[in-house]
Amino acid sequence: MGKVWFIGAGPGDPELITVKGQRLLQQAGAVLYAGSLVNQAVTLYASEDCEIRDSKDMTLDEITAWLIEKAWQYDTVVRLQTGDPSLYGALIEMVQSLDTAGVTWSVVAGVSSAFASAAAAGETLTLPEVTQTVILTRVAGRTPMPDGEDLVSLASHHCTLCIFLSITLLSDVQQALRAAGWSDDAPIVVVQKASWQEEKIVRGTLNNIKELCRAEKITSQAMIIASPTLGARYWTELQHSKLYDATFSHRFRKAVK
Ligand code: SAH
Repeated sequence: MGKVWFIGAGPGDPELITVKGQRLLQQAGAVLYAGSLVNQAVTLYASEDCEIRDSKDMTLDEITAWLIEKAWQYDTVVRLQTGDPSLYGALIEMVQSLDTAGVTWSVVAGVSSAFASAAAAGETLTLPEVTQTVILTRVAGRTPMPDGEDLVSLASHHCTLCIFLSITLLSDVQQALRAAGWSDDAPIVVVQKASWQEEKIVRGTLNNIKELCRAEKITSQAMIIASPTLGARYWTELQHSKLYDATFSHRFRKAVK
């Protein structure tokens, strides 16, 4: 009996999979990838005789049945997930069926699109004395938001918000941020297909981001980042991180007086 590996494929660029993920793909007897989101190029790491299947037309039951069947045939079976498997990836639904079938499994972390988007835009999500908190969230679509997690409440912290799965609901995002007291000129960055060749970066404000995205025809696979840190590279007055402050001692360095 083989083992099923849930591997984060990263945001798109095949070089953004982990070394471990790449090695397991090379060893895999069968690979099931989410073709609607995972860059097919990542599957090129698999060997020539590996069975490769796109899951885009499969139901959850079909996916788990396929993984279980392949685990009977091969030592290493890979389920490739977009970004990191722990975020919006239906991981638990899949592993419960594997547990029931007695199939062992593990997860290999991946680079989430939240981080790839920040990287693409050259932005930081945390900044000393500006914000030290990042909220990864979404607005309600077909999946409702649990009590207390509506965007107005979350945005009232005025920290960094990485908003997944919500690009077609930009008016809801605008409304929530306004209701939470964000100003019309608060900066917002939208990154579509971060790390892909087709990557697009749109920089705007709470007021104009929807029109800017419409003009760029961005309707899917996009990350919305709203944060008081955006554009910090142009600020002239910046609180520097204590870690590199010459007058601050820590485990690896003595302060200079
Ligand atoms: N597990 C994934 C998220 C899957 S949910 C992760 O960690 O990134 C799918 C949502 O992720 C999309 O609606 C979009 O908001 C975001 N997303 C996925 N890939 C992206 C990319 N390359 N660039 C920008 N956003 C992306």
